[in-house]
Amino acid sequence: MAVQQRKVVAQAELKAETKVDAQVGKTWGRDRDVSFGTILISLGILVLSPLWVMYTYISCNAYQCAMSAPALEIYNSPNALEALKQLLIREVPTFSPHAARIFLTWLTFQAVLYAFLPSQIGYGQRTPAGHLLPYKVNGLFAWIISHALYAAGGLYFGWWKLTIIHDNWGGLLLAANMYGYFLTFFCYIKAHFFPSHAADRKFSGSFIYDLLMGIEFNPRFGKYFDFKLFHNGRPGIVAWTMINLSFAAAQYEKIGYVTNSMILLNLLHMTYVLDFFYNEDWYLRTIDIAHDHFGFYLAWGDSVWLPWLYTLQSHYLVRNPVDLSPLHFALIFTVGYTGYFIFRSVNHQKDIVRSTNGECMIWGKPAKVIRTSFVTSDGKTHKSLLLCSGYWGLSRHFNYVGDLLISLAFCMTCGTQHLLPYFYIIYMTILLLHRIQRDHTRCKGKYGKYWEEYEKIVPYKLIPYIY
Ligand code: NDP
Repeated sequence: MAVQQRKVVAQAELKAETKVDAQVGKTWGRDRDVSFGTILISLGILVLSPLWVMYTYISCNAYQCAMSAPALEIYNSPNALEALKQLLIREVPTFSPHAARIFLTWLTFQAVLYAFLPSQIGYGQRTPAGHLLPYKVNGLFAWIISHALYAAGGLYFGWWKLTIIHDNWGGLLLAANMYGYFLTFFCYIKAHFFPSHAADRKFSGSFIYDLLMGIEFNPRFGKYFDFKLFHNGRPGIVAWTMINLSFAAAQYEKIGYVTNSMILLNLLHMTYVLDFFYNEDWYLRTIDIAHDHFGFYLAWGDSVWLPWLYTLQSHYLVRNPVDLSPLHFALIFTVGYTGYFIFRSVNHQKDIVRSTNGECMIWGKPAKVIRTSFVTSDGKTHKSLLLCSGYWGLSRHFNYVGDLLISLAFCMTCGTQHLLPYFYIIYMTILLLHRIQRDHTRCKGKYGKYWEEYEKIVPYKLIPYIY
């Protein structure tokens, strides 16, 4: 229904009258002018992110997920360099043709599902160059087929063990890294020589920044094979729940049962992931799709960072099984599902107000909206609206409050013995606080005085009366 409404609005927008105004709005979208400091930070992210993923892999694989253990071992050894060398030789995974085959089969299978499964067509936000792109929205179907096949192959046909992902974790990490780097450089070259939408490219003048944040906005093969939607959704988010299940199976194999913490973690993650696919059309109008360009940040991030670090809690629980008391279980369940309820309700309000062009009820009253206009780089003016009642009247990013509560619940399933499983909530807090700033810059550039009006009506960014 929402997809249908959105399609109607999108088509109406396509036909809408436009007028030329070449003065305004040329620069909204991703940064173009980057400072030396930004380039240095970008270099740091490019170098440190893969090292951090490898570090967490080593600390889980060899030190029961004790985060400081590998560093302390090196620090306490009389010859730190030699200790580091020995640790790397011992623990860094080597190339495994078997794991590489599993990864490639998985990737190809997901690409086939994405390209050929029947699909509704969703529309993203209008891009800074004025494109309104169609997307295949068939992620839920792909998720169901992938998980059914994984379970049937493991439990019924005996094609693989359910622990296959856990058992090949090191080799898969290497294969995913190789793919993530390949994709990053491929997209960098593609952006220069055969871009999908040339006018939506952003060149910063810095090789490092462009590699990290991407040049092309919506790289595609053909009309529908969208790199951003595919890589975030399929090798990234479909894999998320499957990795968790494989680690739950490994816990069963190791201790003879699956702990209630592991079950709760799987339940919470699965709720989040299924919500994503059930509402995949909504995702087309979030910052990932509507603002970020496709570089290392998303290409390597979706291939490595997301599947490895978003599932850290299940790696932890295999090595450190936690049996939650009924009270703890109930507390985490409540935090998680309260967060989920907030997250979904806030995002739903935005989607419904946009798809009905503001003609809807929010919390039992007619929606209060600011009617805005913005200009794309082809000089055309378009109309949009900003909701300023309901959750969007409490703060400008109340959906992030819900997300932070869910993230905290994921981590709490691991008890309080170690810091590493809490990496996710720390990371999400930094990511979302930074996103608030990024979104502010974007919306101010896009909406100008309308955004300032919204800021006056809704002064809080995240938590009402606090921030
Ligand atoms: P939003 O979905 O809030 O999208 C922000 C955009 O919405 C703005 O750029 C603007 O774009 C539009 N907008 C802003 N204010 C209003 C308003 N008052 N009324 C209507 N439209 C408005 O943010 P994100 O894309 O960051 O996040 C989407 C969800 O995904 C969130 O719940 C977040 O917590 C979650 N998330 C999860 C991550 C994870 O890794 N697990 C990572 C990041 C986000 P425009 O006007 O151009 O449409």
